Amino acid sequence: MKKQVSQLNVAGKKVLVRVDFNVPHKGEVISDDNRIAAAVPTIVELLNKGAKVVLMSHLGKIKWGKVDDAEIEKEKRANDLKIAIEPLKKHLKNALGKDVSVSFSEETRGESLKAKVDALKDGEVLLVQNTRYEKGETKNNPELSAEWASLVDAYVMDAFGSAHRAHASTVGVPTLLKEQGKETAVGFLVEKEIKALSNCVDCKEENRPYIAILGGAKVSDKIQVIDSLLKKCDKILIGGGMSYTFKYALGNKVGKSICEKDQAEYAKKCYETGKIVLPVDTVIADGTFDDPTNIHQIETPIGGNQGIPDDFEGLDIGEKTAELYCKEIENAKTIFWNGPMGVFEKEQFQAGTIAVCKACVEATKKGAFSVIGGGDSAAAAKQFGYSKEFSHVSTGGGASLELIQFDGHLPGIDDIEDC
Ligand code: AMP
Repeated sequence: MKKQVSQLNVAGKKVLVRVDFNVPHKGEVISDDNRIAAAVPTIVELLNKGAKVVLMSHLGKIKWGKVDDAEIEKEKRANDLKIAIEPLKKHLKNALGKDVSVSFSEETRGESLKAKVDALKDGEVLLVQNTRYEKGETKNNPELSAEWASLVDAYVMDAFGSAHRAHASTVGVPTLLKEQGKETAVGFLVEKEIKALSNCVDCKEENRPYIAILGGAKVSDKIQVIDSLLKKCDKILIGGGMSYTFKYALGNKVGKSICEKDQAEYAKKCYETGKIVLPVDTVIADGTFDDPTNIHQIETPIGGNQGIPDDFEGLDIGEKTAELYCKEIENAKTIFWNGPMGVFEKEQFQAGTIAVCKACVEATKKGAFSVIGGGDSAAAAKQFGYSKEFSHVSTGGGASLELIQFDGHLPGIDDIEDC
């Protein structure tokens, strides 16, 4: 068990909190502030303890190494609306309440950053510019980690969405502080994520059947987690683009559907475990992706060279499949869902994802423990108005998959002290 933020003795101390403020925003307009709201309880706990709080987060991607460094400097200094953290300050201040002082550091290292950290009074917050403005962040650069670690007396990991990345701010800093005998802990958000996802890592007999629902675009993105889930759950219901790779592997025609032929052998091996359930019908269309035509449903029984005609593409599970999957889900006691059943962004191909979503909610009402593993399925559940009715919606797509894959271990959590 990891030390918790509530166990820290940090009155009058400087505490670096790694938060995940990687929110979709345009300047001060934030389209989904879930991640900021989710970090508030940990920050408030530390402020109530009389700590001086230094917040660090990444925001978006910076193409270090892919384009000229000078280009990146230009982009950063132009304060690109997508990657600058300062616009989030106002929102954070509103979330923390008007009595909390929140200042900002444009500098991500150096004397000026140190001076701002040292000037903090007990109960004040300093928000630091995007950690990825530093080239060494994603490389877990030892000098950068040492500099950031030297600024503070303690560290809290509350960025679940980044806990699967071994970066300077997620692994380098806490590892050094721990070696120096300083306190490290997980925040309330990470604690909640670990607790909820542990049900999907190690499912007790009384919480079975354990059903995993996997969809989304590609098999290759989720190979490792499929392997791991096959050992942990009772059945995996496959939908979305990845179902066509399985169908292709079993001898069906898949037309123009998304299909990774090089994964066919792996898909066949998975199917042979007897735990994989595949669609029996599918919604297909021709025309272009943006302007699909001839939308209709066909049956897609396994094998026998049957399937989707050459000019057509499979874009959602069909009604019979939805019914079959809903029956499985309604009997489940533990549910892990990652990846939509079809191209849910388009109205014509939403039905499968909505049906699965509803079935998870019904099962939850009957007492099942249901988890959405972040990413697009969380976006879909939110879009259709069901997110609040799941037992847990993870804030980290990649992190929740890796937590299951590595039996509860993630680099950004393993480096925190045990208690
Ligand atoms: P992922 O990030 O792997 O969960 O993939 C999510 C994406 O998969 C969403 O943008 C969906 O539109 C897309 N998707 C789901 N089903 C299909 C399909 N049958 N064909 C193409 N894309 C799909």
